[in-house]
Amino acid sequence: MGKKNLLAKGACKPGAKLCGFTDSLSILNYAPKATRSFTLITQPKIISPLFHIKQMGASFFRAYSMCELVLRAVEFDDKMSQVYDALKNSLIIMDLMTADDEAASDKVLIKFQLFFLDYAGFSLNFDNCCHCAKRPGEILIYDADAGGLTCSRCAIGRRNTFDISGAAELIVELNKEADLNKIIAAGYSLNKTGAVLSLLKSHIKANLNISLNSGQGFV
Ligand SMILES: [Zn+2]
Repeated sequence: MGKKNLLAKGACKPGAKLCGFTDSLSILNYAPKATRSFTLITQPKIISPLFHIKQMGASFFRAYSMCELVLRAVEFDDKMSQVYDALKNSLIIMDLMTADDEAASDKVLIKFQLFFLDYAGFSLNFDNCCHCAKRPGEILIYDADAGGLTCSRCAIGRRNTFDISGAAELIVELNKEADLNKIIAAGYSLNKTGAVLSLLKSHIKANLNISLNSGQGFV
């Protein structure tokens, strides 16, 4: 596994008899065939064309956001088989949704981003201030410039801070639940999932220096 540049020979010619299915965002198996100058995709077999995701606007943007995160991370490390598996499973679960359920696809995206941060070693730490390491007070404040939790004392004078108490509560809950189907079925408030998405976006930007473009439309 890893990011690969491949040539899907003949696939782009409309009307060609051997015209392959190279629609973006599909899960497929193939046999790579190396030639002198490039590697060809041969014997492609679609495992899932992710039809539902493509038909649903909300899910599509979230699916794209997950792919975008992995694609950017691959620039640093392309041996992340667990991440590819998680991406594939998340896409398949998202594709099983037959209605364009924005809230449900948000939850798949959040769970994937939490997994990804944990894998990359950048899980959110709600126990210590990232500046003085002391335990924070009742209200949890996030410092988007520092990319971590800050206590109220260290937050003084810092401009890019926001209250993440609600988001933190939901993240702790989501981290405890391994079953994605249970998470999808649970009725979390849209305000809270929105706050979590916004926090994760800031955290990913600050710690991994990855700005997710596709997130701009909905976070
Ligand atoms: Zn502090």
